[in-house]
Amino acid sequence: EQTASQQAIDLENKYGAHNYHPLPVVLSRGEGVYVWDVEGKKYYDFLSAYSAVNQGHCHPKIVDAMTEQAKTLTLTSRAFYNDMLGKYEKFACEFFNFDKMLPMNTGAEAVETALKICRKWAYEKKGIDENEAEIVVCENNFHGRTTTIISFSNDPVARKHFGPYTKGFIKIEYDNIEQLQQHLESNKNIAGFLVEPIQGEAGVYVPSEGYLEKAKALCKKHNVLFIADEVQTGIARTGKLLAVDHENVKPDLLILGKALSGGAYPVSAVLANDAIMSVIKPGNHGSTFGGNPVAAAVAIAALSVVRDEKLAENANILGEIFRSELNKYIKTSKIAKLVRGKGLLNAILINDSEDSDTAWNICLKLRDNGLLAKPTHGNIIRFAPPLVMNEEQLRDCVSIIIKTLKEFE
Ligand code: PMP
Repeated sequence: EQTASQQAIDLENKYGAHNYHPLPVVLSRGEGVYVWDVEGKKYYDFLSAYSAVNQGHCHPKIVDAMTEQAKTLTLTSRAFYNDMLGKYEKFACEFFNFDKMLPMNTGAEAVETALKICRKWAYEKKGIDENEAEIVVCENNFHGRTTTIISFSNDPVARKHFGPYTKGFIKIEYDNIEQLQQHLESNKNIAGFLVEPIQGEAGVYVPSEGYLEKAKALCKKHNVLFIADEVQTGIARTGKLLAVDHENVKPDLLILGKALSGGAYPVSAVLANDAIMSVIKPGNHGSTFGGNPVAAAVAIAALSVVRDEKLAENANILGEIFRSELNKYIKTSKIAKLVRGKGLLNAILINDSEDSDTAWNICLKLRDNGLLAKPTHGNIIRFAPPLVMNEEQLRDCVSIIIKTLKEFE
């Protein structure tokens, strides 16, 4: 007799395109920091759908906003106005302190949107020929998997055999301010610098203190747009509302996704001030679902939860505890080498090679022990729980993680 989990996995493997390699666990319910599999086993969620479920699973205020709006009006497209979008845009602009917002659905779409705004801005405001504009990006970036985005990805699996690629990108080393400076000083065709304030998919790589601040100052000096991809780091994850807030940096283009909806619904956006967003004219860009009334209602609720429940403060406090407790263990550990991160976006480095299956095997064991996490590499495990976690739950999770790591010593 097959388990319900195995049936679900077999069905997905038979009919689904094999574009993912999920950890073998089949979830059917979530509440707060917990998820349950189809057999009823309870787990701590320590991934939050790659930092989308910051507000916790099925947050009642977000679910209420979504269901109430779903009963009233779900989609008009942008052919007409809907009564929620303006309210949402005002709310989000005030929340993040920008003049304008362009609503989209997924993270990758919002990145594409920012790239388009940047290119048109370069043409109209800097007089760069439209075939010459270049955008500086970083090694080991992750911004999504559309054709243009993979054109400047380092990940061979995401990129290889999907050419021809989109032109107009210059790749520099992450966290290398001199390289950025050299390019900005020598190349008049640079329109923007696209950066993750912390590189999530690269294994939660935190740049040196001051890097973002210096990068922003260089961009300002050379009239180049500083484009922050906060899809993973934004919305309280790193202990501040935005990760750039740690260095008091204000991006010219801010890209948000994931937790903008608390994971309840696909919602993303680009925010900018008038001088930049004004390059966008009717017909330049859009999406049938972008800015739909359900997304608007959900996002207002999701951002309100972040503010009302002080999730940034909580992430900051719990993140300190997480790293200090793990550091105590790491001092004598034979398997764990390092813990790094900010707020509740952290990773543990394992004493093994990048292409080993050790991190994967540890994640399987963590699952058996009631905690769900996913490796970014063969020797790196990312830890990103919902930000509604309390200290007791966090300490419980830390002991599960340490107990599991000890099984591999
Ligand atoms: N940018 C960053 C920094 C991300 O981490 C991700 C997703 N992991 C994306 C963009 C892409 O978002 P989506 O999967 O919603 O397209």
